[in-house]
Amino acid sequence: MLKGKTALVTGSTSGIGLGVALRLAAQGANIVLNGFGDVAGPRAQVEALGVRVGYHGADMSKPAEIEAMMAYIESEFGACDILVNNAGIQHVAAVEDFPPERWDAILAINLSSAFHTTRLALPGMKQRGWGRILNIASVHGLVASAQKSAYVAAKHGLVGFTKSVALEIASSSVTANAICPGWVLTPLVQKQVDARAAADGVDGEEAKRRLLAEKQPSLRFTTPEQLGELAVFLCSEAASNVCGQAWSLDGGWTAQ
Ligand code: NAD
Repeated sequence: MLKGKTALVTGSTSGIGLGVALRLAAQGANIVLNGFGDVAGPRAQVEALGVRVGYHGADMSKPAEIEAMMAYIESEFGACDILVNNAGIQHVAAVEDFPPERWDAILAINLSSAFHTTRLALPGMKQRGWGRILNIASVHGLVASAQKSAYVAAKHGLVGFTKSVALEIASSSVTANAICPGWVLTPLVQKQVDARAAADGVDGEEAKRRLLAEKQPSLRFTTPEQLGELAVFLCSEAASNVCGQAWSLDGGWTAQ
């Protein structure tokens, strides 16, 4: 379905980003990976699906590096047809204890990076007459939790940004939508599982059960593969009139 398209997935060396990249590649899209840590492992997984794979190590908190990455995609792949703004970090602390540099980093990586990639990708998408912008927001783009002020502010901002961009391009063949996962067991959440286990004096399995029981009525984690399938749907012709939505995959978290 996506043969001949090129997808940039930011923060795709791990977790949800890698899950989305694999599902888009399974539909034939060439993939540009981005993110820190091990690159060879994720690259080999995506290449095994028979598509062309690139990598750019831009730090998504740095606009100049984002500009260099978008230029790399244009010159190496000829287009950025699918833009998945996924890179994100978390920090958990009460607002009066929140380190200002963590606030700035979360706003830069989880929100402002999507502005920079979008402003640079959109002209080419419009010119070629097709494009998909998928912003990986969160349930925290729709509702709040205590101790996550920067993350909640950034994700609410990302949902608002998605709607505004979607309206600007509504009559074109480019769409912009947000995906709002609940708990997904990735390295980002494993840190919170470990913190909960230490705080409550319980083992990891019990800490996971308690985190889920508090927020996610299905009592099951959403998986990167499920999020990848939703991304594939949003790239399909069937979704060409889905415009500016914040689509939850959260086991009932926001239905409460
Ligand atoms: P993760 O920690 O597994 O992956 C994060 C990715 O972002 C990694 O590839 C990492 O290298 C990359 N990254 C971090 N800082 C970066 C930077 N400055 N520049 C470039 N890349 C950077 O986390 P995840 O859980 O897969 O999270 C992915 C996205 O999904 C995030 O935006 C997160 O907020 C969102 N999300 C996660 C959950 C969850 O439960 N895990 C729920 C809702 C939303």
